[in-house]
This record gives sequence, structure tokens and C-alpha cells, in this order.
Amino acid sequence: MNTTSRYKRVLLKLSGESLMGKQGYGIDTERLNQYAAEIKNALATGVEIAIVIGGGNIFRGLSGATKGFDRVKGDQMGMLATVINSLALCSALEAAGVKAKVLTAVNMYPIGQQYSNDLAKENLGKGAVTILAGGTGCPYFTTDTGAALRAIEIAADVMLKGTRVDGIYTADPEKDPTATKFSRISYDMIYAKGLKVMDLTATTLCKENNMPIVVFDMDTPGNLAKVLAGEPVGTEVYQD
Ligand code: UDP
Repeated sequence: MNTTSRYKRVLLKLSGESLMGKQGYGIDTERLNQYAAEIKNALATGVEIAIVIGGGNIFRGLSGATKGFDRVKGDQMGMLATVINSLALCSALEAAGVKAKVLTAVNMYPIGQQYSNDLAKENLGKGAVTILAGGTGCPYFTTDTGAALRAIEIAADVMLKGTRVDGIYTADPEKDPTATKFSRISYDMIYAKGLKVMDLTATTLCKENNMPIVVFDMDTPGNLAKVLAGEPVGTEVYQD
């Protein structure tokens, strides 16, 4: 087996919003197939890949609540949105010839088997890309927190947060052209500077459990492989 990966097991967090691609809503199949191809290449390095994908392209509980939806029901809708995206990604991976499995946070059989730590590790050990759908299964959390939790549970070496920005900046680079990028930053600096990398629950979970994070631009082809090879793509978050 080819082992050019710096890591043995990773948790890749993909944002639901990125799945919209150029079309601005729902699931863009071009983007989906691009992700599947990136993941296929990454898998060829021998790394085990678990994936958590968000649901922001379909529904977010918080934005539902501002429109009059009950927050808990809105969050449940958001979690179901992550299941839709997970099934789409699983299907795209299988079409690309990659073994993939969806495990769901709550029982939704036969859509997927219910997540358990053992089952996730068993699937990863068999070389299947294991997609962990439905967030934490609880409202008032985000998929970033779900991803942090699962990364810790399955003892991943790193959580790779794939976004459309190529790392962590001093300010939002889409709003402030003078913002500069960090190649590395500590959790404490993130708190001290009030940087919005992930929600604080997710950041704290990673900090308290020594889970390193790499934030990188997933939409640039080849970047995932570069991150796995340890190339300085994106920003690495480390423990002080
Ligand atoms: N969600 C939740 N609990 C979880 C994970 C997600 O309630 O453990 C809901 C929440 O409403 C969230 C939505 O699912 O807004 C979609 O997830 P998220 O906004 O994190 O998706 P992303 O921004 O990554 O696309």
C-alpha cells in the first residue's frame, strides 16, 4: 500500500454550502464529483478517511428559527439535510469506484446503519470512506462540532476542515483585503483574537482533546492530497 500520507486516519469536514457550487442552491453534481475524485486520490495514499458533511446548502436550524420555525425542529431538519448530502456524496464515491458507507447519528435504518464507534472503525479498517451523517444527533450543535466529536471518538490523527477559504486569516479575507493568513495558529490565539474558524464548542472540543485541525481550501483541485502529504496548504491549529 502506498503510504505517502502524513496521517493514518483523518476526519474530513466538508461544508454543505460548498456543495452548491456555481448553481447557488442544492447539490451541484460537478462539485460533488470533484470532491469524490479528490477523495479517491487521497484514499490511494493508504489513509483512512471518515467524512462529516454539513447541511447549510439545504437548511440551517438557526436561520429557520429567525423565520418562525421551532429551533429544535429546525435543527432536526438541518441534521436531515446532512443525511441528504451524505447520501449524495456516498453515491458519487461509489460511482467513482470507491467503497463508501453512510452511518447515521440516529437510527434511520435502512438509509444507513446507526453510528457506533466500533462500526465506524470497522468500516475504516476495511478501506471504506465512512461518512458520518446527522451531526451529533442533537439540536443546538453544528456539524463542525459533530466533526470534532467524531474525529476524537474514532481517534483520527487530525481533523481536516475543507472550506472555500485557504486557511485562517487575521480577518475575513472576503471582506477585508488587508487580511493576512496564518500558516499555524494555536487554539488560544483563536480565542484571544476572536477568530471565527469554527464555533467555539467545536474549537474547545478539539483543544481539550488535543485534536489538531488543518483548515484548507477544498475547492482547489489537488489540495486534499497536498494536505495529506504535509505540504503547507492552509492553516494548522496546534496546542500551546
Ligand atoms: N445540526 C444540529 N446538530 C448537529 C449538527 C447539525 O442541529 O449536531 C443542524 C443545525 O441546524 C445546522 C444544520 O444541522 O445548522 C446544518 O449543519 P451546519 O450548519 O453545521 O452545516 P454547514 O455549515 O457545515 O453546511
